[in-house]
Amino acid sequence: MIVPTSNTQQPTDYLKRYYGYDRFRPMQEAIIQSILSGRDTVVLMPTGGGKSVCFQIPALMLPGLTVVVSPLIALMKDQVGALHMNGIQAAFYNSTQTSKEQRGIETDCISGKLKLLYVSPEKLLTESFFQFLSLVNLSLFAIDEAHCISSWGHDFRPEYTQLHVLKEQFPTVPTIALTATADKLTRQDIATRLGMNDPAIFVDSFNRKNLSLQVLPGQNRIQQIIRLLQQKPDTSGIIYCLSRKSTESLAAKLQEKGFSAAFYHAKMDPEDRSKTQEAFLRDDVRIMCATIAFGMGIDKSNVRWVIHYNMPKNIESFYQEIGRAGRDGAAAQTVLFYSFADVATYKDMLAENNPANLGLQLAKLERMQQYADAHTCRRQILLSYFSEELPDPCGNCDVCRDPRVTFDGTVLAQKALSAIIRTGERVPMNLLIDILRGSRSQQVLQGGYDQIKTYGAGRDIRFEDWRSYIHQLINIGVIEIAYEQHYALRRGILADQVLYKGRKIDLVRPDDAPKPVVEKSRAKTETQRDDLFERLRVLRKQLADEQNVPAYVIFTDTTLEDMARQRPTTPDALRNVSGVGERKQQLFGKRFLEEIVGYVRGRVEAGQKPKGSTQLITLDLYNNGLTVEEIAAERQLTTGSVAGHLVQLAKSGYDIDLISLIDPFERREIEKAIAAVGMEEGRLKPVFDYLEGRYDYGKLTLVAGLL
Ligand code: ADP
Ligand code: ZN
Repeated sequence: MIVPTSNTQQPTDYLKRYYGYDRFRPMQEAIIQSILSGRDTVVLMPTGGGKSVCFQIPALMLPGLTVVVSPLIALMKDQVGALHMNGIQAAFYNSTQTSKEQRGIETDCISGKLKLLYVSPEKLLTESFFQFLSLVNLSLFAIDEAHCISSWGHDFRPEYTQLHVLKEQFPTVPTIALTATADKLTRQDIATRLGMNDPAIFVDSFNRKNLSLQVLPGQNRIQQIIRLLQQKPDTSGIIYCLSRKSTESLAAKLQEKGFSAAFYHAKMDPEDRSKTQEAFLRDDVRIMCATIAFGMGIDKSNVRWVIHYNMPKNIESFYQEIGRAGRDGAAAQTVLFYSFADVATYKDMLAENNPANLGLQLAKLERMQQYADAHTCRRQILLSYFSEELPDPCGNCDVCRDPRVTFDGTVLAQKALSAIIRTGERVPMNLLIDILRGSRSQQVLQGGYDQIKTYGAGRDIRFEDWRSYIHQLINIGVIEIAYEQHYALRRGILADQVLYKGRKIDLVRPDDAPKPVVEKSRAKTETQRDDLFERLRVLRKQLADEQNVPAYVIFTDTTLEDMARQRPTTPDALRNVSGVGERKQQLFGKRFLEEIVGYVRGRVEAGQKPKGSTQLITLDLYNNGLTVEEIAAERQLTTGSVAGHLVQLAKSGYDIDLISLIDPFERREIEKAIAAVGMEEGRLKPVFDYLEGRYDYGKLTLVAGLL
């Protein structure tokens, strides 16, 4: 493992060394400083925001042990595995281990060998564990998924409410609580229930810029999904469905079309479930058709897209589910299929169950629907729901990319309302449209609706267009659906204002509403990936299988993208790639460099000259035993250039014996000349002149390189 560092090192040094990143994200450093100063700290940061380093770097810097409390036992093994890959001494502690294993871990904690110990709240709160903790030099408690403490939240864990005993037993050990949950009640609960002492609270923006947002009409979903997926071969993603049955049938249809798909829901037996989940984590299955049971505990960072086959029942769930995409920060796509029928299904379900907070749930459903129906920037709507303001439209949602054109639809709204009132608020949508269009259908005639004043008042508008307008009017609150009265339309909260108070209504022409997927999606949402990226991805998968870990534990997609962009051909250059820390360099550097060098060589042979290739050709010839002069002749370059390549290659870690390339006597004479005239900014011309041209630039370059 990596040798311990001295205390003069800064947090950024640890970030580079263990994680391979150059810079902290906004807030991370302040959070780390808060912990290091001994203050209790609460961190609210979206999924993928980078919470882990906020407690892991203090854990590395502080002298003792950091105890991490996490409810996700299934995840601990992977989390600890990922820490090992970064060269960090960590372990987890749970009931699957033998007592011998547990004793071993305890010894390593007491001796100070381990920096981080992951434990579930159940285990933590036992008497024996507390006894053990009292023997350890404790630096920090980190409470992960801290929203589980709040009974307001969706993942309430009763054991979490007992965690305040940590503060009572170990009052001097600081605590950091972390969560990706944004809602305000939960925030307040966390600090109080943990018994924190004047905590510093950090709330990061919940804007996940790398997630594109898109809503599509719910017709022909399967065909649309197939078209979408054909545009993203070999990427991992989740399709959320409302029912278990649809997860199974959708997976079957996708398999038929040759996609690597599986399904996941709560009614599967536990063994199948964990197998399926594992296959997804390991990239053995690419597409997961799942109910919302799939997610909590999916730490996979390279989920490139999330599709909602059905609309979720509120914005919290939606945000959490799309949040599983793009945790690595690389671009990811989210698509929501929206159909009115889904809303009706939810309303029926709610009416049937009649929960105590029915009104609240209906209101939340309505907000979700407004999001789906919006003709303004979707991200602004999403963030405003979490009380965060986004001043400018985002540019990465379908509305921003394809702005809708609105027209004054007040008269249309008035016609529809007037027909609703004159039919006694008793008719459902299709019948109302028939009346407006002056249809002579049996239903219209039987009801005597051809006698009312607004009969035929909207005959110039197509049936389908009327449907779109009425949907829009429902979503803005001009019209309402009486679910309890066979879906009859009635006046909404804005109806009177439209009818009597001159309120104007903007509508969008159906032609401008979102269209089903037909063409290729725009390049903007796609990440930059070339054939080198593909080769690196294949290598990563191979290494992951060898090591028996998920692929993203080796390197994230963002790291592979950066690697494919920079194309490092030397160990030093590889260290500049974001996400290549010391340990991973040791473990995997050689294999990745070989792959890149092989790729660059292939391109050279194909007659191209990719970046870094000229040095590699020189290296090949050098390895074949040619001298500087011979290489220069072969390549029709000056000896100065060739010597320059070799000096560069040696500096960046290649095994090149510069000393053997020059005669010791000549070397001394050139060194003296350099000492006499100097070489300002590396310029060798004065040295060349001083020596009256007796030595060529190749030799001068070599000696200068050796200095
Ligand atoms: P969270 O726990 O908040 O969901 P993670 O801690 O898993 O997020 O971090 C998400 C991703 O961002 C990981 O791939 C992580 O390595 C990466 N990351 C974290 N901090 C940085 C940083 N300062 N620079 C670049 N990448 C980072
Ligand atoms: Zn937008």
